[in-house]
Amino acid sequence: MELDKKELGATHYKESALKEGKLLSLAKQPKLQYAWDNGPAIGRYLEELKEGRIIARKCNKCRRIMIPPRMFCELCWRPTDEWVYVKDTGKVNTFSICYVNWDASRIKKGDKPHLPAVIEIDGASEGMGILHVLGEVEPEKIKIGMKVKAAWKKPEEREGAITDILYFKPVRG
Ligand SMILES: [Zn+2]
Repeated sequence: MELDKKELGATHYKESALKEGKLLSLAKQPKLQYAWDNGPAIGRYLEELKEGRIIARKCNKCRRIMIPPRMFCELCWRPTDEWVYVKDTGKVNTFSICYVNWDASRIKKGDKPHLPAVIEIDGASEGMGILHVLGEVEPEKIKIGMKVKAAWKKPEEREGAITDILYFKPVRG
């Protein structure tokens, strides 16, 4: 069935409304001031990254160790119970060889493709992982299940961000 826009209650704006400044446009650089709160789970997670550690949350009912950590278990429908350190190693759950940038523009000719991957972290429950990137590996050598380890920024350069881990690289041997 085709949906009628009128039935959906959609409101259409005219191009003139944008020009007259009746609509918010990023081109006009609005002075938006806001603060971002990471919350207790991600806040602690990022603090630990600054120290070169990865921390997860455990639910004592289903016994899952969750990464990234969360304060609520969506399966048991109750708060999670404790903090658990996990390793900075893991395995590739899935990956992509990506020839476009975040804004969908094509990467420069000759540049290496981006290698986003979901890494299942050792010590966390099966299937629990974080989205990051792979490094020090040729794209054609990447395999699902490949063992990897975090390549960290130098301690003095870390700022409590997921980018404190530069990338995950293959574990040799
Ligand atoms: Zn649970």
